[in-house]
Amino acid sequence: MRYKSCHLIEHGISLDVDSIKACCLSREFNKGQLMIIPYYDNNKINWKELFEIKRQQRQLQKQKDLPACEGCYNLREDDWDDEDYISYINFDHWSQCNSNCVYCGVSRLKPKTKNNILKPIKELIKLGKFKNTGEITFQGGEPTILKEFDDLLKLFIKQQTKIRIHSSGIKYSNIIKEGLKKGNTTIVISPDSVYKETYKKIKRVDKSNQVWDNIKKYRHHLAPLFNELVKVKYIIIPGINDTYEEVTSFLNKIKELDIKSIIVDVEYTYANKNINNISEHIYILMDYMENYACENNISFDMYDSAIYASKNRTFEKIQDFSSEKIIEQINRYKVLNSCKNIKY
Ligand code: SF4
Repeated sequence: MRYKSCHLIEHGISLDVDSIKACCLSREFNKGQLMIIPYYDNNKINWKELFEIKRQQRQLQKQKDLPACEGCYNLREDDWDDEDYISYINFDHWSQCNSNCVYCGVSRLKPKTKNNILKPIKELIKLGKFKNTGEITFQGGEPTILKEFDDLLKLFIKQQTKIRIHSSGIKYSNIIKEGLKKGNTTIVISPDSVYKETYKKIKRVDKSNQVWDNIKKYRHHLAPLFNELVKVKYIIIPGINDTYEEVTSFLNKIKELDIKSIIVDVEYTYANKNINNISEHIYILMDYMENYACENNISFDMYDSAIYASKNRTFEKIQDFSSEKIIEQINRYKVLNSCKNIKY
């Protein structure tokens, strides 16, 4: 049937520490996330109940956008099937990490983990209710330090589904290496700076060299056909790494390591607070990265906050990418916008 919906309303789950939602998207205006089961315990998932709730949500979405999904960029008109199955799983059920990023939204005040998520996931597969047509994502917390991570990854590598892992890059993982070699696993690492001191300021751990070495090692295992599977992210953090020098050194490093995919995002709390009022210098830095990627045959993507910032953009795309012009414009807008929650 044709109607407006999204792949996650239809066939997605996001496993949080306590609850199961349809997605984990950071939404503007704090609309919350589409809840399926508010509390699940003992690492059990009642799949029958879950599919019943998802069916009801799909019915409601056919009539009108679900409140949690209003305005989401993932909504689109399509011919959606009416089957009960899961093809998108986001693993977000633990909060332990080996980094301590200033922008982290994961609460570590009460570190919790569901320790046996593997069991219900195996049940889902056994029930024939998992289809490998979507994507498995790991968010967390740091996936590589999760007890069941290797087993979960092996399971989905065997299912031949697409996998995307968000990692700090501090711990090198042999099972990720296997997934990269097979060509169905993507790793996203966000060092946010090449400079050791800036990295330390953002991550509050002193692991910059280790992370860039691991990026290099992961990149080394990619076959030419899969060379975009190592993605390096840059979160623009106002007052910390939002300078021409920082971004230029990042782009130079990307080129040096022959990385073929970069992702840009804007720090979540800044973007959320200033969504209609993003400082123009942030857009200039995004334009600069996009132009550099295009000129160097590197794929360029944006994550949620950068997408929302771009949707609300009124500032014209810059055309002159000479360093003098970019530096002059960044400085001008930083001064003009110094009242807009930009820390120096
Ligand atoms: S918030 Fe967006 S991505 Fe999440 S379930 Fe709703 S429409 Fe889909």
